[in-house]
Amino acid sequence: MRCLECDSQYVEKIGTIAITSDYVGDYRVENVKYFECPVCGRRLFPKETAIKISEKEKGIQRELIKKLPVGDFIPATKAAKVLGKSRQALHKNRRIRKGFVYFIERGGKRLYHKKSVEMFKQCGDGRFNLVDATKPRTIESVVTYYKETSEYLNTGIYADTPSYNWQRREIKGNPPTKYIQ
Ligand SMILES: [Zn+2]
Repeated sequence: MRCLECDSQYVEKIGTIAITSDYVGDYRVENVKYFECPVCGRRLFPKETAIKISEKEKGIQRELIKKLPVGDFIPATKAAKVLGKSRQALHKNRRIRKGFVYFIERGGKRLYHKKSVEMFKQCGDGRFNLVDATKPRTIESVVTYYKETSEYLNTGIYADTPSYNWQRREIKGNPPTKYIQ
């Protein structure tokens, strides 16, 4: 088997693979078979390794979803309404079952993550970075400065002074990002 990148011969290896996922961060899968190009480092995973990687990521994903605030989840009836589906269709949807919408089980009932449902409705993928979302939120204030017209400076007494002044504004909490509101 030759490397698609540089045409060198792949070398079969058994070892630990480090993965960086957009959704669950960094993790490792140990003692698995893979092929590696000795020249450019490109790797190929045989099917059984790909399955192990996927299982590992799913496990981490489940644990991280459980750490999301329970108040951010909605019952199936509500989620179905948002998506314009029946409850049954929601439950059977293959992409949702695969984890494209985050959900938890509580008392035998499935609860769906509200933002995840909305993202899924928008683009068919309700996954977001769980590592950032489950990090403890630190409250820090962000100080910005903005220009504001000052009445006092507009009286004409100080004609040379610019008619605006820099004001300090303090915002509590982290500025919103794409995933954390
Ligand atoms: Zn190569």
